[in-house]
Parts: sequence; structure tokens; C-alpha cells
Amino acid sequence: MASSCSSSLSAGGLEKLPASSIRVLRSVDALRRWRRPHTLDQRSVALVPTMGALHEGHLSLIRAAARENHHVVVSVYVNPAQFGIREDLASYPVTWDADVAELVRLDRELADDGHNLGRISAVFAPTTADMYPAGFPGQEVDSKGSFVTITPVGELLEGKTRPTFFRGVATVCMKLFNIVQPDRVYFGQKDVQQTVVIKSMVRDFMLPIEVVIGPTTRADDGLALSSRNVYLGERRRSVATVLSKALRAAEEAYKSGGRDRAVVRGAAVKLLDDALATQMALAPEKRVQFEVDYISLADPDTMEELKAVDPARGGILSGAVKMLPVEAPQEGEDLGHSGGPAVRLIDNIILKPVA
Ligand code: AMP
Repeated sequence: MASSCSSSLSAGGLEKLPASSIRVLRSVDALRRWRRPHTLDQRSVALVPTMGALHEGHLSLIRAAARENHHVVVSVYVNPAQFGIREDLASYPVTWDADVAELVRLDRELADDGHNLGRISAVFAPTTADMYPAGFPGQEVDSKGSFVTITPVGELLEGKTRPTFFRGVATVCMKLFNIVQPDRVYFGQKDVQQTVVIKSMVRDFMLPIEVVIGPTTRADDGLALSSRNVYLGERRRSVATVLSKALRAAEEAYKSGGRDRAVVRGAAVKLLDDALATQMALAPEKRVQFEVDYISLADPDTMEELKAVDPARGGILSGAVKMLPVEAPQEGEDLGHSGGPAVRLIDNIILKPVA
């Protein structure tokens, strides 16, 4: 997955990113050797798990981790177990050189800013052979192997469309947590159901780890940043804000006193229906078609659907929209990474409790 062209080996065989003190650790053994002294000197270690193709959303989590910990480990690993057999594992963007350049730049920024406790100490970029010592168990629903499953939350919403997704996420995170032994782990609210799964796993397996959730980083027009946005291309990118706009409309309904599912969720559904009707009125070479997978109004702890929001507890509004490949592509049109396949966008807004 990751090329090694942008790092250098020192005389002692220690691989470091150029012009930085960031180590590149490519095996479980190397990570454990790096980790051991920090247990003894009681320095706090944070882990920010990523699949690479880094963007500002990832960087914001690393900044938060550096403020609160002596050492930040960023893992860069495209975990095949969380991709379904028909999903985009083969084309998932791998941008190792740009990623490490970003990490070196960010690490300098962290050094210059006096408010940080720590810096980026290491990038953990293991191989699949290392992460799955008994052999990769496969991506099928009935694959046999050692898995962590967190139900029922892992079966709802994203888990309905992607039945192996949260099993893959929980399993790889359990492995990463056991390898890195972090004091704190940092996850983005962008993937809100993932945060509920990870918090449940940490609680239910008594892992001595604090789970910190960072806010969703968005483009100026509201689209939540995602490594998969590169698939969109120009035409679909301009329409991809429908989901965040729909969630905002539902949030407005809640803020104006709406509590019933039909009122709050209904506001999001109406915006999406109207936006699709507008697109369908356009000519095929101009329009963008999308399908709504779900719009959910759910309990903040369990993600079970709500009939009404209890204002003392609030709720989670979340949604998934599939942007279909463009029709009638025009000569020279930017279709996006990998020819512009269907792209599933997800987003969410937390409805805060009101006193
Ligand atoms: P990924 O590389 O997509 O697996 O994401 C790695 C981490 O970054 C996860 O905790 C994500 O929730 C988080 N993340 C992804 N996109 C964003 C975003 N736009 N804002 C904040 N965090 C994000």
C-alpha cells in the first residue's frame, strides 16, 4: 500500500520522515519497541487511526491529540476487512507521499504553536500480513476468523447497507488499540455511528482508553470533508451539499421547537425531494441523480430510531445519499477519481439537549 520513497533510513536503521523527527513504523514489533519506554516514563500516547488520503478533517484530530498528549501516533492503514466485496477497496485513494508531506508540515506547525503538549511522534503503516497474523479472513459476511462485533448498533443504518463494515472497523481498532496501547484515541464526529461503536467497544471490553470525538470539518459550502470526495468530479461536487443542507433544515425544525419525527426528519426529507426534483427537470448532460439511502433521527447513545426527540437528551440526525455516476458525460468533463463511480456520502448533526 504505502511506498517508502518519502522517508529515509538513518544509519541505525530507523526510518524517519525527511526534515522531521517523525518515525515511520511498519510492523507491530517496531511499534511495540517504540511504545515501551513511554510506558515507563509515563508519557501519554494518543492514537489517531486513519486510512490515509489525509485531509483537514484528519489533521484537526491530530491537532486535538497533540494539545492533550505527549506523543501522537497516526496510523495509516487501508483496512480491507471494512470494505464489502463490492465496495471500492481497489480504487480507494492511496496518497502516501502527499500524506507524509502533510504530516511533516503539520508537525512543524505543532512545534511553532506554544499550546501543544506533544508532536507527531510516529506514523504506523503496517501491512495486512502483520495486522492479520493468521491470514486475512476475507471480506465476505460469513468469513471465518477472529472478529469483534458490536451489536445491535453495528447492524443499524450504515451497518444495514454495509453488513461487514462495523465488524471490520471494531476488529481493526481493537488490534490498533492493543498494539499502540494509547491513553486516548481520536475519532471524527463525521462518522458518528463509528464513534458509538468504538465507545461501546471500549466500555464493554473494559479498555483503559479515553475516546475523544472531534467535530466534523467541512468545506466552505458545508460538504463534510471525506477521502472519498475525490470520486465526485465537478458536476456531482456542486450538488453534493444536498445532504448537509437537508440535515441543517431538520436541525432548524428542532431549534424552532419541533420534536416529532415527522416534523424534524420530514424537513430533511422534503429538502432532498425538492433538490432531486430540481435535478430531474434538467437535461441529462447537466443533471445529477442521487438516491437517499436513509435519513435517521436516532437516540444519541444507542442510535435506535426515535418517534420524538426528548429535548433533555437530544438526538442524532444522520443520513446517507448515493450520488449516481453522471449521465451523458461531456467531452473533457472532470468525472472524478477512478472515472467517477457511485459515491455514498454520509453526514450527521447532533441535536443538542435543550435545558
Ligand atoms: P478515515 O481515514 O476516513 O477512516 O477517517 C479517519 C478518521 O478521521 C475517522 O475518525 C473519521 O471519523 C475522521 N474524519 C474523517 N472525515 C472527517 C471530517 N470531515 N471531520 C472530522 N473528522 C473526520
